[in-house]
Amino acid sequence: MSYIIAIDGYSACGKSTLARAMARQLGYRFIDTGAMYRMVTLHFLRNAIDLEDAGAVAGALEGLKVDFVPGSNHALLNGEDVEAEIRQPAVTNYVSPVAAISAVRRWVVPQQREMGDAGGIVMDGRDIGTVVFPDADLKLFVTASMDVRTDRRLAEMAAKGIATTRAAVAANLAERDHIDSSRADSPLRQAADAVVIDNSKLTLPEFIAAGMAEVDKLRAA
Ligand code: C5P
Repeated sequence: MSYIIAIDGYSACGKSTLARAMARQLGYRFIDTGAMYRMVTLHFLRNAIDLEDAGAVAGALEGLKVDFVPGSNHALLNGEDVEAEIRQPAVTNYVSPVAAISAVRRWVVPQQREMGDAGGIVMDGRDIGTVVFPDADLKLFVTASMDVRTDRRLAEMAAKGIATTRAAVAANLAERDHIDSSRADSPLRQAADAVVIDNSKLTLPEFIAAGMAEVDKLRAA
């Protein structure tokens, strides 16, 4: 049996880390849907697209290709590996307003559904269990305290050599949380049937084990 596993939650809660680890253990495909919105954002930034201009937004999406490199899972924008670039503050600070545009979501979501059609997928994002796969076999909603999330994202950025401050990271997380949960189209919500995992006090192995324990329950059911 190949399951569809949906992982949602606020920014920098560890969703992608969990999704990647679970996909590896299960031999499933891992899809970081945030990377898809980040690629669209990078494309809009490069082409100076005015988000208020519906025609310009539609035109920019036409013929655009967002994908992942098989194996490495690096983000691929029109065939170009943009994995490093989409994690830069310029994209991170702009992605939530772009992801709030309905035309963008209408363009991205069907592609996500197609990726999960055959099952055997772990997909992380904000609306996977509520909108993309409301019938997912397993829905996880990941949370962590704001302090923990800020520390982790700061360490991640330092490791990538991206210069920033704790205050800037905290402000960006709070702003994205706000935009993501208050937008009209597909706001970030915990699905009623999602299992919540708060990883504030968990080690990484404990966190992954908590996710895998839910897969074991599914298999035993
Ligand atoms: O997961 P990540 O932080 O890379 O996502 C970047 C942004 O993309 C989020 O802040 C959110 O605005 C948007 N997003 C979304 N729906 C998803 C995944 C990400 O709106 N399924």
